[in-house]
Amino acid sequence: MKRFLIFFTFSDNFHSFSMNLFHQPKEQLIAPCGMNCGICLAFLRTKNNCPGCRSGAAGQPNYCRRCIILNCEKLEKTSSKFCYECDTFPCKRLKQLDKRYRTKYRMSMLENLAEIRELGLEYFIKSQEEKWHCPACGGSLCVHRGFCLKCYDKKSAIH
Ligand code: SF4
Ligand code: SF4
Ligand SMILES: [Zn+2]
Repeated sequence: MKRFLIFFTFSDNFHSFSMNLFHQPKEQLIAPCGMNCGICLAFLRTKNNCPGCRSGAAGQPNYCRRCIILNCEKLEKTSSKFCYECDTFPCKRLKQLDKRYRTKYRMSMLENLAEIRELGLEYFIKSQEEKWHCPACGGSLCVHRGFCLKCYDKKSAIH
């Protein structure tokens, strides 16, 4: 519980330091659905990049700003602000999203959420950093492209 209190204190003050998007608190990059925005193409690209799901900052694509999950009333009522705490978890919308990502990108939002619930957000962030680490340059692999956008090292490709 303490972890989440710290997180929401960060969240309240977030806009004051959101200019440096790559240095925002890592917790901000983990979306309510379990998506790690830090491995998203829109976050990693250099032009018109997205600051991440929870940033609330300008530059977010409309489809993320208007995301049904992020704006879900039931999510608002949870203390963790993660879908796993919802009484209808996993809802149809989340299951569809998970299926799409498992099929296209070999990544599961539901598995991510289970890891966050069982092992904690801090653990999850560390395991994500290890899982998506580019061995060639130390950057992040991109879940959508399947390789690192910084060095284009195809040997590290995940798909
Ligand atoms: S496009 Fe959506 S999933 Fe990607 S970084 Fe932005 S908010 Fe996150
Ligand atoms: S799992 Fe619950 S909180 Fe998450 S999007 Fe579905 S209904 Fe909303
Ligand atoms: Zn790289």
